[in-house]
Amino acid sequence: MTARRLDGKATAQAIREELRGEVDRLIARGRRPGLGVVLVGEHPASAVYVKSKTGACEGLGVHHETRTLPASASTEEVVDVVEKLNHRREIHGILVQLPLPPQVDATRVLDVVDPVKDVDGFHPDNVGRLVQKRPRFVPCTPAGIMELLARHDIGVAGKRAVVIGRSDIVGKPMALLLMHANATVTVCHSRTADLAAVAREADLLVAAIGRPGLVRAEFVKPGAVVVDVGMNTVENPAEARDLLEPSRLPGFEKRGRALVGDVHAPSVASVAGALTPVPGGVGPLTIALLVKNTVRAASMAE
Ligand code: NAP
Repeated sequence: MTARRLDGKATAQAIREELRGEVDRLIARGRRPGLGVVLVGEHPASAVYVKSKTGACEGLGVHHETRTLPASASTEEVVDVVEKLNHRREIHGILVQLPLPPQVDATRVLDVVDPVKDVDGFHPDNVGRLVQKRPRFVPCTPAGIMELLARHDIGVAGKRAVVIGRSDIVGKPMALLLMHANATVTVCHSRTADLAAVAREADLLVAAIGRPGLVRAEFVKPGAVVVDVGMNTVENPAEARDLLEPSRLPGFEKRGRALVGDVHAPSVASVAGALTPVPGGVGPLTIALLVKNTVRAASMAE
């Protein structure tokens, strides 16, 4: 069996196209949606993510601006930038790109974001609302995964779902969304005993770990739907030969690096019923949902 490929790129494109009408309507009413991004330091991956996010805004006519602070910025300096964005009428969504440098208190910074502009859904008000099943903004990655499943007619009600990872950004909100959609959910983490056996119970397996290729064929029940959230870079040729499908090896040899997920795609593809690719799976959806949340924030501010 070869797993059905769940194309996040095409789904993200469809979501963005559906937003066009609402963006045009808002612009006609003088309320062009606006996203303010706060980027601190020179984390190379963060700069790439911010560029993808602002690029997606641009494609739809959504205003965006990025406030860049040096890696040495203090908590108070970052808080000050967020507070200024909170007060700007033409900014409807605020995104603080993570990770922040170690001397910056990330919790304090995220707590300062106005909850009605918190398009990442990380503010405790929005987390609480999600827990109570009355969400305002849902974190973009798990929200994108729910859209991907729905748009591929993959029902979750009554299914056994296993989420590997319990971060505030992905694992926890993913588990809540699946529970609210009536799946029976198990959350795993680094202290889970016999992870492979627990994972193998899943009809739907979500891997949000940050460990290249950790989820191998023996973690997967035949026919299960596998969602790979991981975004890891491999540079070691032996690792790349193990982790990459043969068709990606020439690209690796050319660039000396490749993006891989938390799922060992070459082995899992022959066991799973469906699998999200990396790249081209969850990543593009995260970006599309950020734009969607920003457009919603602007509509809500009308
Ligand atoms: P994180 O905050 O580091 O959390 C990782 C989780 O995985 C933790 O709960 C950790 O357990 C668990 N874990 C680590 N090693 C494990 C192991 N050997 N066995 C079982 N569980 C293990 O990471 P994150 O922010 O959730 O991100 C996870 C991955 O998704 C990363 O690769 C990240 O780059 C990627 N990501 C992708 C997108 C996207 O748009 N595609 C968005 C966000 C993140 P403990 O809690 O016990 O430490």
